[in-house]
Amino acid sequence: MLVKKIGIDLGTANTLVFIPKKGIVVNEPSVVAITTDNNQVLAVGNEAKEMIGRTPDLITAYRPLKDGVIADYRVTEAMLRYFINKVMPRIRFVKPDVLVSIPAGVTSTEKRAVTEAVLKAGAKNAYIVTEPVLAAIGAGVAINSANGNMIVDIGGGTAEVAVISLGGVVSVHSARVGGDKLDSAIAQYIKKKHGLAIGERTAEDIKISTGNAMPQIKEKYVEVRGRDLIGGLPRTVRVSSNEITEAMKDELMEIINAIRKVLQETPPELAADIMDKGMILSGGGALIKNLDKLITKTIGVPCYVADDALNCVAKGTGLALENLDLYKRTILAK
Ligand code: ADP
Ligand code: MG
Repeated sequence: MLVKKIGIDLGTANTLVFIPKKGIVVNEPSVVAITTDNNQVLAVGNEAKEMIGRTPDLITAYRPLKDGVIADYRVTEAMLRYFINKVMPRIRFVKPDVLVSIPAGVTSTEKRAVTEAVLKAGAKNAYIVTEPVLAAIGAGVAINSANGNMIVDIGGGTAEVAVISLGGVVSVHSARVGGDKLDSAIAQYIKKKHGLAIGERTAEDIKISTGNAMPQIKEKYVEVRGRDLIGGLPRTVRVSSNEITEAMKDELMEIINAIRKVLQETPPELAADIMDKGMILSGGGALIKNLDKLITKTIGVPCYVADDALNCVAKGTGLALENLDLYKRTILAK
């Protein structure tokens, strides 16, 4: 297999690797397992996630990009190397071009660190592009056009909002709120209201199966198993979708406020384009039921969920790599 181009969606929750003409070849959690005593990297991705909770004293499972900033450069580098090696043959005749998507809030120093990590991992050229720009490309937005385009990418750790025109980012904001915060809000709510302790994984399952951004007349119910806070024993409660709506309310408002902020910073002509065409939602968070409707109702701008929302950024890395010339003067320019 001759791999000349590799796109990596380095997400706060999941990392996807995209190879042009092949598509998504890797999709694993952005987790690194490290030994607590001497800081050795033990495992990355699926294998690291499996370790969570199994050997709690000796190993820490770590999400290096959790809040959209690169907390530990060394760990991020180990993660990048793992994903690049996974798709590259051991003996390489050609060094690949590697394009990595990073959260928009990452500083230029961190960006340089990622570039270096990619080059060290064996790339010929390293391109670093922010997540919302790639999400827009992956969602099929013609970002080089003279129109204003708004994209909202909601991942695990961050919500990234950007207005793009003529291939350039006109305004952007990365808010540290996403699926993770929704999960903890649900867990908090169930603890307070039902006296039941549940794990983040259970909270995430509830969010995906039953969560709704808007209250419904015809409610859905979910049986939630957890540990009774007083007796300490396992117990099951029935929770309604409207309760989950209530639990997620403040965090969803934070996302909407980030969108509002970017719109307020957008020049009037471009804002008018966005009013006409609407904004595009991508990322896992875009799949929360009725979030598009809630945004439209609250802000008054039409809102659409991209096709294949979870994979927009990864697809965007592939499209950008296949059309390097098209983007060289805009998003890939230093
Ligand atoms: P990142 O780009 O930060 O790695 P992703 O775009 O992969 O994040 O999205 C991960 C988040 O999306 C997680 O918080 C996950 O719980 C959430 N998610 C995935 N599918 C759904 C769904 N169907 N409904 C609601 N949330 C979802
Ligand atoms: Mg993402």
